[in-house]
Amino acid sequence: MYRYFIPRQYVKEVFDITPESLKEKGVLGIITDLDNTLVEWDRPEATPRLIEWLKSMKDAGIQVVIVSNNNEMRVKSFADPLGIPFIYQARKPMGKAFRKALKIMSVKREQVVVIGDQMLTDIFGGNRNKLHTILVLPVAQSDGFFTRFNRMVERRIMKRLKEKGQLMWEEEN
Ligand SMILES: [Mg+2]
Repeated sequence: MYRYFIPRQYVKEVFDITPESLKEKGVLGIITDLDNTLVEWDRPEATPRLIEWLKSMKDAGIQVVIVSNNNEMRVKSFADPLGIPFIYQARKPMGKAFRKALKIMSVKREQVVVIGDQMLTDIFGGNRNKLHTILVLPVAQSDGFFTRFNRMVERRIMKRLKEKGQLMWEEEN
């Protein structure tokens, strides 16, 4: 059970993930979380740095789909100006939205990475669906109400994994 919470890869922020490193692995698509992964959960729009990062992916032929558990208004108003497909109320860790994202991009499981800041939704969901998962540090220190609860559970899981010696914070290349 616990192994599902272990990310395949760990980076500090999305900007540590480069098109080159993805291409090396044959990655053609990114399924990314929005809140506290791409920007702070309470920031309505993308930052110039993020716009640049997304463009570098596009130029490299790597597609991006935003898959968020947040509501339509939040996700649509963030993603639309960027011209990026999105799935809102995704109900991660459930599998449906992940499968839908693969369909949108017309890519195979092996050609995708899942990026997110939460073990309980992004990482657990991605691992359960046999996708390569990358955990990032949350962009903001603060969280919305439900996320605060998830963090509490997360800390317990991390503690348990550490005890079992299963927590490896080194980046996997
Ligand atoms: Mg998040």
